Amino acid sequence: MSAKNAEAKAHQEHSSPVNKYKAAALVKMSPQLLEWLTKYAAKSGHSRKLECVKGPDGELLFDAEALKSFSAYLAEPWPAEQGKRPNVPSGIEQEIQEEASFGCVICSRPKGEFAHIDPVHNSKNNHPHNLIYLCPNHHDEFDRQKLISKSDVERTKRQVLDARTAIWRAHAGLLDEILALIKQLQAVNVATQKEHFPALDAVKDELLKHIKAHALAPGLKKTAPEFAKKLEVALGDNAAPVEKVIDERAKFLEETGLVDCPLCDGSGSHNNWECPACRGEGTVAENLVGEIDLEPYRQEECPLCNGSGNHNNWECPVCRGIGTVDAYSVNEIDLSGYKQAECPLCEGSGSHNNWECAFCRGTGSVDEGKLEHFDPSDYEQAKCLLCKGRGTHNNWECPICRGVGKVDAVALTDIDLSPYQQTKCPVCKGSGSHNEWECRFCRGVGTVDVAALEHFEPSEWEDEDSDS
Ligand SMILES: [Zn+2]
Ligand SMILES: [Zn+2]
Ligand SMILES: [Zn+2]
Ligand SMILES: [Zn+2]
Ligand SMILES: [Zn+2]
Ligand SMILES: [Zn+2]
Repeated sequence: MSAKNAEAKAHQEHSSPVNKYKAAALVKMSPQLLEWLTKYAAKSGHSRKLECVKGPDGELLFDAEALKSFSAYLAEPWPAEQGKRPNVPSGIEQEIQEEASFGCVICSRPKGEFAHIDPVHNSKNNHPHNLIYLCPNHHDEFDRQKLISKSDVERTKRQVLDARTAIWRAHAGLLDEILALIKQLQAVNVATQKEHFPALDAVKDELLKHIKAHALAPGLKKTAPEFAKKLEVALGDNAAPVEKVIDERAKFLEETGLVDCPLCDGSGSHNNWECPACRGEGTVAENLVGEIDLEPYRQEECPLCNGSGNHNNWECPVCRGIGTVDAYSVNEIDLSGYKQAECPLCEGSGSHNNWECAFCRGTGSVDEGKLEHFDPSDYEQAKCLLCKGRGTHNNWECPICRGVGKVDAVALTDIDLSPYQQTKCPVCKGSGSHNEWECRFCRGVGTVDVAALEHFEPSEWEDEDSDS
């Protein structure tokens, strides 16, 4: 390693105790969750908790290296009873619901489930970054039906995390933090112009709310009184507060001789870590920008995924799906754990029960390191609990097993039958016929799933009455 690279690395690993908001921004977990992790062991049967020390005023302080190592520990496979999924502890459940504003990230329906981005059967990974809140319908569309792509879910999750991270950074109360918030607002604003996930709109509102709170707070009025005043005016603009605020940031940087960090472009993070060039501050003085040596951070193709960001149909674990890595680190990456072995479930064929093999995702081979997490009992077939193996439910294809009659044994414990409880059909009042035809709402059965009542619009059926 050259002296310059060593310096870059030391700079990157520089650590002094940080407060809970800086800590939250560093590992992208909320201050509340970090505090919870210092009190309780997250993994059942383990005793490991997050280390921290008490500061002079009794506030919790964290060590940056300890935080990163704890986050890596959370991403390792979680212990679970034979054939069951690992338990998601309450502190992490709270985190996932809160980041989704307590509603499905896709449709904002309130009753949701904890969906794993990398399927839990394989990853056994309950790291909060691998979980996302989805309503039962969207969970099913994502997990089983594959109607929602993993990359869409990942992108939304990343956007929400980046925005929340900017919020935590801002809570430390300094000028560079409000600048980072506005930079995130700018990024989310661009994203919402392209696609419409309600989670992004909610995050934009949330960012605006925090920008307002910080612009009006005494801290900023002391540090940058003129800027605080201009922000207040911009935020009060009813027509286009977002654009005005972004504009004020740009003017402020120009007036004060700051520029967005050339490495992280003002976001404060680089390849999903705190940006080493600006130490996460997002901006640097214009006259110093020439001194920043970007060479160690030049991006090179990831040696594991060769730039695709994808390894055996998963997010590449070396580059975290980005496809590139810092040039200075490329020779230190150890690829030995990723040697390929034949998939023990499909024996290399890539298919299992006529579906794409769930353990190797159809590639036929897996990382050698993954073999020890293979549990054949996870993939035994069991009779579907809802249709009792018939494949039909109320004269429709059974929604749980999709008509097959069987499900993976490991999935049995997750099946929630409560939406399928029967209740009298509101159209035919249980008779099974409506206007002398077989009732179309219950298909003549006379009862319907309680969940179906949500989609029952009395007016639609009244109109039909008067038309006929
Ligand atoms: Zn939904
Ligand atoms: Zn930077
Ligand atoms: Zn890679
Ligand atoms: Zn396989
Ligand atoms: Zn079924
Ligand atoms: Zn009916």
